[in-house]
Amino acid sequence: MVSGLHRPTKLVIDRQAIKANIQQEMQTLPQTTELWAVVKANGYGHGMVEVVTTAKSAGATGFCVAILDEALALRQAGFTEPILVLGITSPTYAKVAAVAHISLTVGSQEWLAAALPILQSGALTTKLAVHFAVDSGMGRIGFRDAAGLQAADTFLQQHVEFELEGLFTHFATADEKDTTYFKQQVAKFQQMRQALATEPRYVHVSNSATSLWHAACNGNMVRFGVALYGLNPSGTALSAPYPLQPALTFVSELVFVKQIQAGDAVSYGATYHAKQAEWVGTLPVGYADGWQRRLQGFHVLINGQYCEIIGRVCMDQMMVRLPAQLPVGTKATLVGENGGQTISLQDVADYAHTIHYEIACNLTDRVPRTYLPEKS
Ligand SMILES: *Cc1c(COP(=O)(O)O)cnc(C)c1O
Repeated sequence: MVSGLHRPTKLVIDRQAIKANIQQEMQTLPQTTELWAVVKANGYGHGMVEVVTTAKSAGATGFCVAILDEALALRQAGFTEPILVLGITSPTYAKVAAVAHISLTVGSQEWLAAALPILQSGALTTKLAVHFAVDSGMGRIGFRDAAGLQAADTFLQQHVEFELEGLFTHFATADEKDTTYFKQQVAKFQQMRQALATEPRYVHVSNSATSLWHAACNGNMVRFGVALYGLNPSGTALSAPYPLQPALTFVSELVFVKQIQAGDAVSYGATYHAKQAEWVGTLPVGYADGWQRRLQGFHVLINGQYCEIIGRVCMDQMMVRLPAQLPVGTKATLVGENGGQTISLQDVADYAHTIHYEIACNLTDRVPRTYLPEKS
């Protein structure tokens, strides 16, 4: 996608905030527990390679991604740390992963059986590192019973092409006040892990929420995702044990300013009509940038004042009501701090009836990311 370098709409990512979030988390972890930074979906919209660079300098010792291509992109960028693909990769690419020293998630013996001939074709000097996923109640991927896990483990031990590097599960409700279901999942996982002949190098169960609020079950690695970006995994339900620093700011500038009269309409469908003479500013940002159409009626910050988004958000532009005539070029903040006021990704998500994860990773590549340095 073409990046808009000649347009005043951009994301500013604060590397120091990311570093601080990771370092704060690492201080709560025992020495023997590693932190792997979850950087899938372009680092939750923040920029994968830049986030990985910062996470590494903060002390992360590995990385988790969702798909093989993201892992390959990190290898391409020169990173040599362990990388785990959290989703299911087609067994067709088992060899591609093995050659690049990328660890894959496996949730069935059938997968191993299908990958075996791929790994056996031609000379292979490296084993494929595998993490067995246990479905303890998330209902997404993984082994659902001890017998299946045990059989796959046996199969794996019988074939030198594989190496069992990890065992993990994922919780559905670690970010909720009510811990009933969470505890059931913990119990299921503890029971399932007995099925393995020997425990692998990594046993891991924690996303950000688990690591923040249920650290006791962490295992020896945590898959730290959303919190490293300074976002509370629970939204507003639970408070984080230390202050998280949001890393993302989204800014633009007024590119056109005009006065409209009572009755004049704004944007597609002419759904907005001015009640009186009003100053209206146009911002060069729209739903093609990830600023959803449903954000009509929400606001941006200009000179520390909330300005309503009026009329429909267009693909590439949107209009805001200004408190007064303002010059073209005046800064507008869509997410972040402006003149002592703040709009958080959580605020945007609340208005759009979704979660901040979705808002962040929907920000498209058309919006260039710029980076504030971390302190050394
Ligand atoms: C995305 C993901 C994570 C990270 O979750 P956060 O809530 O962002 O910390 C961890 N584990 C798995 C399996 C995931 O898919």
